[in-house]
Amino acid sequence: MGKMGKKKILLIGTGGTIASEMGENGLEPELTSRQLLRYVPDISGICEIDCIQLFSLDSTNIRPEHWLRIAGSIQEHYERYDGFVISHGTDTMAYTAAGLSYLVQNSPKPVVLTGAQKPIGYETTDSKQNLRDAFTVAASGMSGVLLVFNGKIIIGTRARKTRSKSFEAFSSINYPIVGMVQDGRLIQYIKPERSAPHGFYERLDSRVALLKLVPGIDCGVMEYLLDRSSAVIIESFGVGGLPVYETGSFYETVKRGLDAGKTVVLTTQVENEGSDLSVYHVGSRIKRSLPILEAYDMTTEAVVAKLMWILGRANEREEVAKLFYTPIACDILSVF
Ligand code: ASP
Repeated sequence: MGKMGKKKILLIGTGGTIASEMGENGLEPELTSRQLLRYVPDISGICEIDCIQLFSLDSTNIRPEHWLRIAGSIQEHYERYDGFVISHGTDTMAYTAAGLSYLVQNSPKPVVLTGAQKPIGYETTDSKQNLRDAFTVAASGMSGVLLVFNGKIIIGTRARKTRSKSFEAFSSINYPIVGMVQDGRLIQYIKPERSAPHGFYERLDSRVALLKLVPGIDCGVMEYLLDRSSAVIIESFGVGGLPVYETGSFYETVKRGLDAGKTVVLTTQVENEGSDLSVYHVGSRIKRSLPILEAYDMTTEAVVAKLMWILGRANEREEVAKLFYTPIACDILSVF
C-alpha cells in the first residue's frame, strides 16, 4: 500500500501498438511505459504507479524467453506492489497471458495484461480506456493473471484474439468473462478459486509445435514436426480425430513419435466447445490405443504454454499427463 492508502501498482512496458508510432515502414513500438502514462494522467487518481520498461517489441517477436523475463520481473518486485499491469502487443497477448498463468501460479495479487488496437497518440484510440481499466482491475484486489480489454476481464488461460482490427479484440473461450469495467467501475461476476499455493516457475521447454490439419495434409509434415519438437499439438477437425488416408499413416507416425518419447496432444480447430475424441472412430481408436493427450475445453494458446511449462520440469509420460490434466488457473474444466 502506498501513501494515502492507495494501492501501489507496477507498470511493465513491453511494446505493442499501444506504444507505437508511425515509422518509415509502418507502426513500431517507441514509447516507454512512463511516456504512456503521460497520456492518461487521471490514472494517478486510481493508484500509485511505478514504471519499468523491459523491452519494446511488436508482440509478433515475443517468445517464451520474454515471458520468463516478464515473470522474473514480477517476482523481483512482488513484495513491493499490490498488483501489476503489463502493456503488451495484442497479437500474441493471449499466449503471454497463458504463459504467465503457468509461470506465476495462483498469485493472490492481480497480474493484468492490456494493450490496444490503435496507438495511444491517435485521436481515436482504445489505448487510454484499456490502460485505465487495467489499472482499475490491478488496484481492485482481484487475483491471478487476467487480460483486460475493451472493458472485459478475461482469465489469462481463456483469452484469445478473435478480431484483428476492431476494439472488441478478445474473447473468453469456453469460460465466462469474470467481470467488466464500465465507466471506471469494476463489476465482478465470478471469483475464480485459487486451487494451489502461489509459486513462481523459471523454466520452459519452448520446443512445442502446433499442426493445424487441412484436408489432404501430407503425413510427412507431422513426422517432420515430431522429429524437431518435444511436443506436437494437432489441431484436428470437429470434436477431434486423425485422418486415415491411403497415402501415409498418421496413426503410425504418431505412434513412432510417442515411442521416441514425444508428447502428442489432440485438440480441435473449432473455437468453441472443445474436443471429444470418444465420439467418432477416427478419434476413439487413437485415444484408446495410444498414450496421447486430449485438450478438451482448453484453448490452444493455453495448451502451448502449459506444455512448455510441463516439459520444462517433467518428462515421464505419467507425470506429464498428470500435470496436463490438473486444472491450473481455470484452464481446463472437463476431462472425460
Ligand atoms: N502488431 C501489434 C503487436 O502485437 C499489434 C497490437 O499491439 O495490437 O505488437
